[in-house]
Order: sequence, then structure tokens, then C-alpha cells
Amino acid sequence: MAAMTTETEPTATEPAAKDAQPTTAAVAQGGGGAPNSWGLGDGQAIPWDYAPAPESRDIVTIRPRYGLFIGGREVMPAGGGVFVTVNPATEEPLAEVALATKPDVERAIRAARRATGKSWGRLPGRERAKYLFRIARILQERSREFAVLESMDSGKPIKESRDVDVPLAAAHFWYYAGWADKLDYAFPGRTAEPLGVAAQVIPWNFPLLMLAWKIAPALAAGNTVVLKPASTTPLSALLFADVCRQADLPGGVVNIVTGPGEIGMTLVTHPGVDKVAFTGSTAVGKLIAKGIAGQGKALTLELGGKAANIVFEDAPLDQAVEGIINGIYFNQGEVCCAGSRLLVQESIAEPLIGKLKDRLATIRVGDPLDKNTDVGAINSKAQLDKISELVEAGVAEGADLYQPACELPERGFFFRPTLFTNVAQSHRIAREEIFGPVLSTLTFRTPDEAVEKANNTPYCLSAGIWTDKGSRILMMAQRMRAGVVWANTFNRFDPASPFGGYKESGYGREGGLHGLLAYVRLEDR
Ligand code: NDP
Repeated sequence: MAAMTTETEPTATEPAAKDAQPTTAAVAQGGGGAPNSWGLGDGQAIPWDYAPAPESRDIVTIRPRYGLFIGGREVMPAGGGVFVTVNPATEEPLAEVALATKPDVERAIRAARRATGKSWGRLPGRERAKYLFRIARILQERSREFAVLESMDSGKPIKESRDVDVPLAAAHFWYYAGWADKLDYAFPGRTAEPLGVAAQVIPWNFPLLMLAWKIAPALAAGNTVVLKPASTTPLSALLFADVCRQADLPGGVVNIVTGPGEIGMTLVTHPGVDKVAFTGSTAVGKLIAKGIAGQGKALTLELGGKAANIVFEDAPLDQAVEGIINGIYFNQGEVCCAGSRLLVQESIAEPLIGKLKDRLATIRVGDPLDKNTDVGAINSKAQLDKISELVEAGVAEGADLYQPACELPERGFFFRPTLFTNVAQSHRIAREEIFGPVLSTLTFRTPDEAVEKANNTPYCLSAGIWTDKGSRILMMAQRMRAGVVWANTFNRFDPASPFGGYKESGYGREGGLHGLLAYVRLEDR
């Protein structure tokens, strides 16, 4: 029987569901009901209080106002406008940020063009490599500063920004620094020429990491860039501008313009741009593809996903549970490759769901700067509303909702980790990208049925397989329509490994040699 909501009661899916009580009659909640406790399968709870372990925010200085970064200098926007970026965990303003307009974009592109012809364009690969190595080293030296800033601006838990985002961002610069003077070996028998000026538009879910994925290969191959970060998370890109200055990167090689989505469109469609790289929603990806059609620009699109995480009956269940949790609750589920559809073999559905509920009861939701926090704040009110709307649709369409009892902070954009069972393929929660901490569970009986259900999506970005049998992994991986397939793990990233999808998930690859290929024009020797 599906969970029902009523007009008079708040729904379990409301953003304001900050009490630890069940909020609808049929919504199941676990965790023993006690805040800060962990629940046992039999309903008992052992009280367990974690002492707060807040990371100090003193390491980072957030200025009241930031300009644009053009030609190696901070400049004021032509129109003089600003917008405010807020901390999604507290709803407090963090800083005012320059609102770029068309003349600023043109100025940034001119600066980038000049650098392709002068400083950067004339440097041999081994000299470009030195700058990239320097940037990587500075990112590592300033890693705590970046981690704290990233968590404050985006809402992600400090343990993730500290242990994943920042180290991986630095790793991308190390990796591509290594290729800068070896392009002849990367593409044997061909000459790799840079494309020119790259326009890069990035999202809010991994602000620094997406910057690194885009800027590192572009620079290694000899291009210059104009990058537009998301409006809700501009601060780590602006701190990166500081890193560029510290590394003595020649002016114009990296330019950063901040502003709304329209400025992204102005940037990518500008005739002075040679290459466009975008990560974000499928809807905007399509607009960009249309906007630049016929302009002869190279384009890579990294868009949405609705990954199937498939668990077979012979899988090590406890290990799979950790992978499922990591797959969907990492970064509040705001991950394009999140394992948002759990496909469980029917014979193990009951024990697996039981273990998942037990594990969910131990997840700590709250202050992103607390080192114990597993799930931080949703990036924006708009995203929180989107998640809430889709979860309400899941309940209305007949799926069963389970949320652990956990206390949510009074302020900020928080959402309880959510597990849906009894989900049908036709439900919106099984088809649409939610981009939140919401897992939709379906069952299957045979490998063929698993393949059919997993591939029943317009997205083709990632998938996970959990089984004891290597032969089954190989068989399934071949049949999965996904750019990345993880086996007995999930959400693993490495700069040497290409990442990307096809169909509604976009095209082109980032990472590895494939990522470098997206920034060069190959000519016969
Ligand atoms: P968007 O695709 O709108 O934002 C991504 C980036 O594109 C941001 O820098 C944004 O700027 C910019 N942008 C927005 N509109 C345009 C435009 N017309 N032309 C050029 N650039 C543009 O994502 P949203 O923030 O709106 O999130 C909506 C949904 O998209 C999410 O719920 C999620 O499903 C999906 N998404 C997927 C991501 C992924 O990694 N694949 C990342 C982010 C979102 P600005 O921030 O100023 O609007």
C-alpha cells in the first residue's frame, strides 16, 4: 500500500520536514525514533551521541565582494552589478559576486585569444607543464582552505570536499601536467594542435572538481579558457583565480566570469570561442547544442543520469549496502552518475532492504562543516523544491517511502535521506533525475530482466553491478548502456580514467587521454 499524504498534515517530503516525527500516516521511519541514535533491525535503539567536530572556518577569508578574473587581474563588471551567493546550510549571505554582462564576456574572450597567440601559445609543452604542476602543488598546499570554502558555498560535507573534491582536483592538474610535454606520445604519428579559446560552463555539485576537469586538460593541450561557474557556487572558482596569480600563470590563460545562465549562453555562442565544454542539466545541454549548431565549434556535454545499481543474489550484501549508500547519498545525491535506481534480485530484496534501513539510520545529516556529517545541505532552495516535488510524486504514484528519523537543522536547505520501495518503472522517481538523496528500488528475477530494466532510461552515464561472479560482471558490463560501469564498487574516479555518457547524458569524455583529445586538433605529420 502506498504512502498517502493529506492536506491538513505536513508531508514527509516537505523541505520543512525538520522534526523527527513521522509526518504522514503511512510513511515509515526508522532509526528507533531517537535523534542521534542508530537503530537495530529489531526496532531497538542504542543512544549514540556524536560530539560536534566542526572544522574551523578561520582558515578561509571570504571577502565581502568579488570581481571578475580577466587577463590575470580582478576587474569590475562593466554593468557594475552584483549577485549574492549564500551558504545553503545557514541561508546566510557569504559574499557579493560580480554580475558579468556581454561586454565582460567579450573582454574575457579577447584576453583569452591574446594569450593563445602570445604567452601561452608560444610556450613549449614542458613550460606549460611547469605551470600545471605549480597549480597542483598550490591546490594541495591550500587544500584546507578550498575544502572549507567549497563546503560553505555548496553545502557538501567537509569530509567529502576534504577527501574527495580537493584531492581529485589537484590530481587532475598533476595528471594533465604530465601530458603537456608528451602530446606526441599521447597521439602517436599525429601532431596535436590546441583548439584555441575554450568556453567552459560548470555546475554547482562539484564546483572545484568540475573546474579542474575542464581547465587542466585544456591548458595542458595549449588552449586558453573562459570559465563560468554556477551562480550558487562561484567562490572556489574565484579562489582558484588567486591560485593562478600565485602560480604566475600568464594573464588571459584562465579567465573567470560570474553571472547567470544567460551569460553562459552568451559565452558559448560567441564567435571568438573555438571549443565548448559544458556540465549540467540535459535541458541546458540541449540549448547549448542548438545555440552553437553550425558554428563549427568542438563540443563536449556531460549531462544528467539515472544510473542503475544492480545487486545480484550472490553479492556480498554488507559490501553492497555500503556501495548503495555511497552511490546515492554521497554529495546529497547531487551527482550526475549517482546510483539513483537500485535494482535488487527478488530473492534478496527483503534482507537487503532491511540492511539498508539499518544503515540509513546511522547516517548523520547536518552541518556540512562538521567532520562527522555524512549528508550536508542541498545546494539551493530551488533544488530542494525540485527534490521535494519529485518525492511527493513518488508517494502519489504509489511507491512506499522510508526516511530515517533524524533531526534536521532549524535553518538551511536539508532533506532526509529517502528510500523508496515498491517502485514501478513508470513512476517519475524511476525515470527522472532527482539529483537529491533519494533512492528508488525496483526488483528483478533474471539477469535479462535486470539488463532490460537498467537500460530502460534515456540516460546512459553510469551503472553499478554487485555480484560474486567475474563472468557475470563482464557479461553485464557489456550489455549495460552506460559510459561508466562500476563492479562491486561505485562512484570511483581517477584522472587517468575517462568519464562521460551518451544519449541524454551527453557526449565526449573527460579524464584520461580521451579528455585530452577533446582539446586538440590532430593533424597528420
Ligand atoms: P543547469 O544546467 O541550469 O546549470 C549548470 C550550469 O549551466 C550553471 O553554470 C548554469 O548557470 C549554466 N546555465 C544555466 N542556463 C544556461 C543557459 N541557458 N546557457 C548556458 N549556461 C546555462 O542546472 P541547474 O542548476 O538548473 O540544475 C537543474 C537540474 O540539472 C538538477 O536538478 C539536475 O538534475 C541537473 N544537473 C546536472 C548536473 C550534472 O552534473 N550532470 C549538474 C547540475 C545540475 P547558473 O548557475 O548561473 O544558472
